[in-house]
Amino acid sequence: MKLLLFDIDGTILLSGGAAIRAVNSAFKKIYSVQNAMDGIRADGKTDPIILKEMFNKSLRRDFLAEEPNRVFKEYVIYLREEMVSSQGFRIMPGIPELIDVLSKRKDLALGIATGNIQEGAWIKLERAGLNFYFKFGGFGSDSENREQLIRIAIERGKSLANHNREFENIFVIGDTPFDIIHGRAAGATPVAVATGSYSVNDLEKYNPDHLFESFSDFMTVLKIF
Ligand SMILES: [Mg+2]
Repeated sequence: MKLLLFDIDGTILLSGGAAIRAVNSAFKKIYSVQNAMDGIRADGKTDPIILKEMFNKSLRRDFLAEEPNRVFKEYVIYLREEMVSSQGFRIMPGIPELIDVLSKRKDLALGIATGNIQEGAWIKLERAGLNFYFKFGGFGSDSENREQLIRIAIERGKSLANHNREFENIFVIGDTPFDIIHGRAAGATPVAVATGSYSVNDLEKYNPDHLFESFSDFMTVLKIF
């Protein structure tokens, strides 16, 4: 059996700024800081790393042990509201068709590998109507390190979908150099797609095994798995 691990933002969907608005609201509520995400680049980073950057930039300090949970608790409340009303939300081209066809294959298991905390990931996938296809994953709430959370996703996939056997191949599908670098470091085959903020030219430099401008021609994409 093969394992396919999908990144979420820029790969499956774009939240249209919902996550940034939600974490800004959480930060404002708790620390009275406006627009704490200004000047911070989020794509490819895990939520705990983004939070660390917000603390350093806005409060000039690191977070204390209990603070991430406090912020993330508020964040998911705001995210739920923001995802429902987000005007810029969209699902990336070809994704619903690709995932639907892949889900019917008996030789494949589908999972998530994202820097989003787990609850945030499910909220985003729910708006896309795609949460039903994924039963497990590795998340920013498992580790701030993307390689580590990919390894956790692989272990969960093994126990939940493959009777604790090794997968014959593992694909990490994502839109940033981080997905390529950390996916490969975790022993996976990187599949890059230029539907996030990195272009085909940008991603090419990191030598992904497969590179697509988008998944709109999903029949061609299917052939690599
Ligand atoms: Mg991404």
